[in-house]
Amino acid sequence: MLKLKDVSKFYYQDGVIATGFSKVNLELFLGEFVVITGESGSGKSTLLNVLSGLDTYEDGEMFINGEETSHYTEDDYLEYRRKYVSNIFQNFNLVNSYTVYQNIELAMLMNGKNKKDVKKYINELINKVGLKKYRNTHVSKLSGGQKQRVAIARALANDTPIIVADEPTGALDSAASASILKLLHEISKDKLVIVVTHNKAEIEKYATRLIRMHDGKILENKVLNKINLDKDIKEKDVNDITFISKLRLGIRNAFNIPVKFILMFIIFMLITITLISNYGGFKISEYEELSNFNNFFEDSSDKRIVLNKKDKTPFTEEDYKLIEANKNIDYITKNDLINDYTLYINNNSNLYIDGKINRTKITKVDVGRLPDKDNEIVIIGHPDNWYLSDMQEELLNDTFTLDDIMIIDNLKVVGIIYDKNENDYSVKFSFTDNLLSKIEDNLNKNYIRISYQINKQYLNSEEIYLNIISSDKVAKGNVYLNENLNVYCKNNNCLNKTLTINTQNIYVDESHDYKIVKLYNKDNIKKLLDTKYNEDEYIVYLNNEDYQELFHQNNYQVSVYIKEIKDLDNTLEELNNLNYNTLSLRLSKSSETELALKIFRIFRLIVTIILVLTLFFITYFIMKIIYKSRNSYYTTLRTLGGTKQVCVSILMGELTTLAILTYSIFLIFIYLIKQNIINFEYFQTMTKYIGIEEFLLVFLILIILSVLMSLRYGRKIFKNSIIKTYGERI
Ligand code: ADP
Ligand code: MG
Repeated sequence: MLKLKDVSKFYYQDGVIATGFSKVNLELFLGEFVVITGESGSGKSTLLNVLSGLDTYEDGEMFINGEETSHYTEDDYLEYRRKYVSNIFQNFNLVNSYTVYQNIELAMLMNGKNKKDVKKYINELINKVGLKKYRNTHVSKLSGGQKQRVAIARALANDTPIIVADEPTGALDSAASASILKLLHEISKDKLVIVVTHNKAEIEKYATRLIRMHDGKILENKVLNKINLDKDIKEKDVNDITFISKLRLGIRNAFNIPVKFILMFIIFMLITITLISNYGGFKISEYEELSNFNNFFEDSSDKRIVLNKKDKTPFTEEDYKLIEANKNIDYITKNDLINDYTLYINNNSNLYIDGKINRTKITKVDVGRLPDKDNEIVIIGHPDNWYLSDMQEELLNDTFTLDDIMIIDNLKVVGIIYDKNENDYSVKFSFTDNLLSKIEDNLNKNYIRISYQINKQYLNSEEIYLNIISSDKVAKGNVYLNENLNVYCKNNNCLNKTLTINTQNIYVDESHDYKIVKLYNKDNIKKLLDTKYNEDEYIVYLNNEDYQELFHQNNYQVSVYIKEIKDLDNTLEELNNLNYNTLSLRLSKSSETELALKIFRIFRLIVTIILVLTLFFITYFIMKIIYKSRNSYYTTLRTLGGTKQVCVSILMGELTTLAILTYSIFLIFIYLIKQNIINFEYFQTMTKYIGIEEFLLVFLILIILSVLMSLRYGRKIFKNSIIKTYGERI
């Protein structure tokens, strides 16, 4: 039984005290159908709020089954409401974005029931209140009468012994009112139902007790129909909402209001994009602008790693296979020297183009054709490159000399490839494998220290400059020498003596003996070797094969190029574990840039922190506005027994669902861009340097934001009382 003894309720507002009701004495029993009437402002709502534990009282004592309540804390009241009271409001206070079924289900989930256990019972309740047809209709689409039926079904689902209804028909027409009151009566068996209404005539036939209020006092308290007074009001078993229900509701709430969903999606997406762009932008400037030179290597590409073997042996096919198996590696350049070598081609009319050697396989050209002879080359460059645009005609129709090295005659440009990724002032030359190999041998020559002995006697390299050139006129094992070298031979005759050529660098130290079979001079060179006489240097002519043997070195040093900068550290480690010494060009830049980098990183940190904080506050304010409209939802949860903790976790479920969804879509988007399925250059460059850790960090920031937001919002809604947030004051 519910008993009031001299209870008074006052309101303090702007220094004025208003009386809600005063000195009310009342005793209500289970099974009663209590009707309260009275003019507006007479204190009916105030009385109901006190009875249902939605509001406190100042004076006197309220007993529930003999237990005093005046000392109740907020939590005690929550417990009291959960055990005893369901409310039906004049303006329904349903969740408009939920269906009829979901509204009723909500009450049951909040009481710790499982989703699948309650299905049958909810359907029964829906039938009972006559809404079978509207089971899956959103509440916002129902008429007032239908809404109040849902509210009644929800109160029944809540299964409390006391149902309190404050003017449940106040917003309904008379036909609807009559049927609602009838329904209330039908459900009142075994419960204590307290109804405030103006429809005295309509309801009098059901009432077991009639209370009339005036000016905060009970004028009349008339028992019309005596019922069993012995029964105690049975308290309901209260259970907390299960974790899985909280999660379900969170996920449902993430999607059930489309406008909110879209707004939140946009907000989370903007945060993600801003953070990633900020980070990516910094990385780009760090990698591409601050670190681009090295004193020893001309090609100081960030993606390049120079390798040699820890045991100092040459690279073998097995090595290449092992290296190529690494998934981070884009390609290997087996002869490393060539990467740092710039060569040029020129023609008789002084068209002079220098460029690097292309190391990747070409399969098609934009202008002309692919080469099929060794003297044919293709040029790769930016479409705006002056040579490739304005000089195209001349380029394609003339013959060229290659780098002043006499390894090929009549060089021809047969094709052009345009590549927007190239610099617009430099080009790349693509040679046939055969010619490339010759260029490599020639380059090797530059990196090998060569000394000569005639009959075991060293020639002084400072006095004379010797060069070695291959010729097919010379037989294997033989050499042709300039006859001026005769001075180095006893009796001034070197013929049939031995020339020893020693080759030496950090990897090799060899010597080769050749027989001097001919001595050439200015006059006989044409006949002997079919070539021009060189005034500047003494040339040793030897056989092609011998030449190769001298200079076609084993590879002791190769370079690999990785696909993505962000994998650099991993790749270095992996290669090291495979027993290669590694030198990353990216990590071996000059020391001036190191200080710049340090300053830059500090700057980046500061900017990022400011950005994150700014984003946080902007987001917080936008979210606050969006979630203001959700106040009534969370208040409804409170009336159904939701604690602050429950409300916070449901909101957290909602926000994290949104964050996860948004982020997943973002990742799919990035994936498609990386796979070149979507072409979006901005993000392509932006995400080039961003690794998995950074992607995770941004995700973490989104989650933290969601959690903080939920906690703050939770504190806010619980600052105000249920009555205040509903604005339920008539
Ligand atoms: P009824 O429901 O019978 O129309 P109420 O219980 O709403 O009456 O109000 C009773 C009295 O208490 C009225 O004088 C009203 O002005 C006052 N009152 C009700 N709620 C508040 C409030 N939140 N703040 C100040 N005064 C209030
Ligand atoms: Mg009222």
